Amino acid sequence: MPLDFLKRRNADPSVPDGAPAQAAPAGRHGTITLPEEVVAQEFQLKLYYAGKSSEGVRMQAGPNAFSELPSMLHGLARTEIEVVEPLPIEFSQATPIIARPSEAMQWLNAHHVHSPVTRHALVVLETIDAIDLAFDTFVCTLLDGEVDTSGYPEYSAIVGGVAAHWDEATGDMIVRSVVGWGGKGVRGDTDRIAAKLLAGILTNVLANQYALGLTAVDRPVPAAGRGGLVCAHCGFASAHERAFYCPKCGMRLLRG
Ligand SMILES: [Zn+2]
Repeated sequence: MPLDFLKRRNADPSVPDGAPAQAAPAGRHGTITLPEEVVAQEFQLKLYYAGKSSEGVRMQAGPNAFSELPSMLHGLARTEIEVVEPLPIEFSQATPIIARPSEAMQWLNAHHVHSPVTRHALVVLETIDAIDLAFDTFVCTLLDGEVDTSGYPEYSAIVGGVAAHWDEATGDMIVRSVVGWGGKGVRGDTDRIAAKLLAGILTNVLANQYALGLTAVDRPVPAAGRGGLVCAHCGFASAHERAFYCPKCGMRLLRG
């Protein structure tokens, strides 16, 4: 049998010695044949993240501006209300993507102190680009749905609250309501409930004593380089090199 095989191979001048042998015709010499079609076992994960952001509300800036933010979630919060401050320059690459270890490490270092609800909200809302911690202050809670035994929201749970930043033109604080949800699944009524919650939060924002009225949200332009300015008032080192106002305390940044 082996001799028969070698003879056949050597008879073909296009196959040099030592080249891999070609498959023999089916049924002969017990050679394994390649099937016409490969039977594949399929694997798939569909992740679904979604969110909504309202128009902005212009607020009278003042020393108490930020301390007003958590009160805008009263009556709607289902878990504790957490405040996530803008990230300083050493966290400017922070991204919740585990396959990028350096960015993921920054992200974990910045956010491991927060609750599972807030971390879930940050993953969803940062992934879909609904908030940007280069300039946003994010105030967060669970708004609807359930958490699992570890405290992490289910895919149909709605998280969020308000996001605030300083208007680069006027120095006013701009507050918008922002909600998000998602994970390994999607439910039909989540979008409708989220729209209701978004409106409910916006109503609270507008009812605040410092609210001046609705305004278009003009998001600050994120930093392109590693520039960054240090706030002379609070010491915050901004990764947002074109910021006119300190993302953290709202005071005017001084350029050197
Ligand atoms: Zn500052």
